[in-house]
Amino acid sequence: MRIDIVTVLPDIFDSPLSASVLGVARGSGRLDLRVHDLRSWALPGVHKQVDDAPYGGGPGMVMRPEPFFDAVSTLMAEGAAARVILLSPRGIPLRQSLVEELAGEARLVLLCGRYEGVDERVRTIADLEVSVGDYVVTGGELPAMILVDAVTRLLPGVLGHENSTTEESFSWGLLEYPQYTRPASHAGLEVPEVLRSGDHAKIRLWRRLEAIRRTALVRPDLLVSAELTEEEREYADRCLEEGAGDRDPEGR
Ligand code: SAM
Repeated sequence: MRIDIVTVLPDIFDSPLSASVLGVARGSGRLDLRVHDLRSWALPGVHKQVDDAPYGGGPGMVMRPEPFFDAVSTLMAEGAAARVILLSPRGIPLRQSLVEELAGEARLVLLCGRYEGVDERVRTIADLEVSVGDYVVTGGELPAMILVDAVTRLLPGVLGHENSTTEESFSWGLLEYPQYTRPASHAGLEVPEVLRSGDHAKIRLWRRLEAIRRTALVRPDLLVSAELTEEEREYADRCLEEGAGDRDPEGR
């Protein structure tokens, strides 16, 4: 897969996108990542201007549309068709289902905003606006890194163990079950007996029920669309009742 990132801060991508799994994915050619400085398409002049004061007044600066339009048209002329994504707190939430969809694309172009955000017209050259959560960060670079990381680990051959993503949080529509490793006992805390039993059917059942319980206690909103049997849904309801007293009015 090829991913192009357009940003005013190209240098901040160097380390996070070169280490560990992403570094290996790039080294093996499974991920062709190219980071572009938006200022290459800045307005003519010594200041390489990419922003300006907002029409109508207000604090801060807004990113001008021309550099983004020029960047996208240059990059689109360069190769395979791409899905263009604008990182934005106003976008649709980046959920695992969207990550899976994006991992199936041949190429993505990611546009990173800064300052007070981008001129509204930039939205017209994006196929999708994506948010990494209901909070505002300083620029689109960290959200872009999150998206690249989440997508890359789903590319075929990137993670050593092909099944490592299939039982993760959100892949079942549930949070992941608790994981343990050695030692069997630490600080008076024991690894559940069932996990040491060698009985794989019992282990599968325990994990499934723990995933449901944890989801009910921490993210009950996920249960609405989770695929559960009738018995599992009854179990989830019991867990919800059990956890209701522990949550604050916002469900935390
Ligand atoms: N004034 C904007 C607003 O209220 O929606 C926020 C601008 S933010 C400081 C600057 C840039 O950071 C945005 O243009 C976007 O690219 C990025 N950004 C901030 N929060 C984000 C989020 N939750 N998800 C994706 N991108 C985000």
